[in-house]
Amino acid sequence: MRILITGGAGFVGSHLSDRLLGDGHEVIAVDNFFTGSKRNIAHLVDHPHFELIRHDVTFPLYIEVDAIYNLASPASPIHYQRDPVQTTKTNVVGAINMLGLAKRLGVPIFQASTSEVYGDPEVHPQPESYWGKVNPIGPRACYDEAKRVAETLFFDYQRQHDLEIRVARIFNTYGPRMAADDGRVVSNFIVQALRGEPLTIYGDGSQTRSFCYVDDLVSGFIALMNNEAGESGPVNLGNPGEFTMLELASLVLDMTGSKSKLEHLALPQDDPKQRQPDISLAKSVLGWEPTVALKDGLARTIEYFDAQIKNGGN
Ligand code: NAD
Ligand code: UDP
Repeated sequence: MRILITGGAGFVGSHLSDRLLGDGHEVIAVDNFFTGSKRNIAHLVDHPHFELIRHDVTFPLYIEVDAIYNLASPASPIHYQRDPVQTTKTNVVGAINMLGLAKRLGVPIFQASTSEVYGDPEVHPQPESYWGKVNPIGPRACYDEAKRVAETLFFDYQRQHDLEIRVARIFNTYGPRMAADDGRVVSNFIVQALRGEPLTIYGDGSQTRSFCYVDDLVSGFIALMNNEAGESGPVNLGNPGEFTMLELASLVLDMTGSKSKLEHLALPQDDPKQRQPDISLAKSVLGWEPTVALKDGLARTIEYFDAQIKNGGN
């Protein structure tokens, strides 16, 4: 199949490109390089089945493909808050453009939604049936609300136009090819530890997240896209192992052997206090569950950043 990946030069998009090419598909990656990088896909540029198009998904795209994975959107709070209006446009107008493309072609389309649709959740762990608690006017709203509208659009295109949709709610995912300056917690802590700089703990560090290794996430994407039961989602994809930020910091310090200190900074507004996916639906319908433990995934990620730093890449 010829498969379009929007956000294909990003962290997750580049791993998805690798997997789909490995499975024998053709991949067309579309990206405007807002947070992605040519370095993430440099190894694919000469691949006979890979094509890269610099394009902003807020503008229409005319192209012929057999399936679409819509990943275009900054994902890190510091990046999606840098130009909040553009974040909403990318997620809403971008979704409309990609849904329009899928409708014209009559092809399936996958949406990279997020656990942020649950906001600062009052239900723990979060099942797909929970409607969430999102501040509609806070600094995270440009991302959270735009991803919620995108879900609405996907389900309206399904109801109104009979489109084949797949919606994944992704929980915090990490791994090689996150940008060193990405601002998300795993890359921040690893890069800080390797450079001997203080690890920046926002607030008291008691807030929790559940971290999924990128290879597991990509397997979940493909299981959802190809599932024979016709499950559209939304389906939670993430690793239920839940850790406080202090636990994560101490694990990173142990594993890097770093002498870095901890530095407490202010907790960002509306920062969710706890987050853990209920993955019963993914397990039962897709037969999917993560296989990489945090320690093993961190070891691979530390190795990646260590090599980047030694090569002067970061
Ligand atoms: P990323 O920032 O590394 O990748 C996003 C990519 O989208 C980048 O290459 C960026 O340049 C591109 N992009 C942004 N705006 C665009 C536009 N207007 N037109 C074309 N391309 C554009 O982030 P990621 O972690 O790889 O996230 C991929 C997707 O998964 C995003 O939609 C994100 O919201 C979703 N997601 C990721 C996580 C996670 O933990 N990694 C969690 C929840 C949801
Ligand atoms: N965080 C932190 N130090 C950092 C970066 C993030 O303590 O250097 C915290 C942040 O406040 C949040 C958690 O780590 O509670 C996860 O943040 P991230 O930006 O990775 O993703 P989020 O789940 O908030 O979108």
